Amino acid sequence: MEKYAGGCACGAVRFEALGRPLRVGLCHCMACRKYHGSAFNPFVVFRFDRVFMAGALKAWRSSNHASRFSCEICSSPLCYREDVGDEIELNMGSFDDSSLFTPTYENWVCSREDWLTPLGVPEFKTDLGYERRRQLAVRH
Ligand SMILES: [Zn+2]
Ligand SMILES: [Zn+2]
Repeated sequence: MEKYAGGCACGAVRFEALGRPLRVGLCHCMACRKYHGSAFNPFVVFRFDRVFMAGALKAWRSSNHASRFSCEICSSPLCYREDVGDEIELNMGSFDDSSLFTPTYENWVCSREDWLTPLGVPEFKTDLGYERRRQLAVRH
């Protein structure tokens, strides 16, 4: 089984993700941009029960349906988790070898910077997660 390792900048938090990622995305939303201090956020989605974290994390409730987690010591942002579902988004830059992943869709392209060239992959004006939550809400 594939195994992908990563961690924060100071090394206090380490993680391992097992198996193939469920998907790899790139987000241009304002929350991701602010949180990462970056113009966009590439992320790799795994099943939550296939990801093993070691080290102290601090959580930030970034919306009414999700939290973001960073290293308690160096504050490196590491992952994002929604309350509903069994997935976790690991930040691509947190992997020891981030060249292993290529985004296959873009979220929140409505706020993509003009100087960024579209990747030529499926685009969502808002995000895939939002669409799924809406479907789940309808089903419940
Ligand atoms: Zn750290
Ligand atoms: Zn985002």
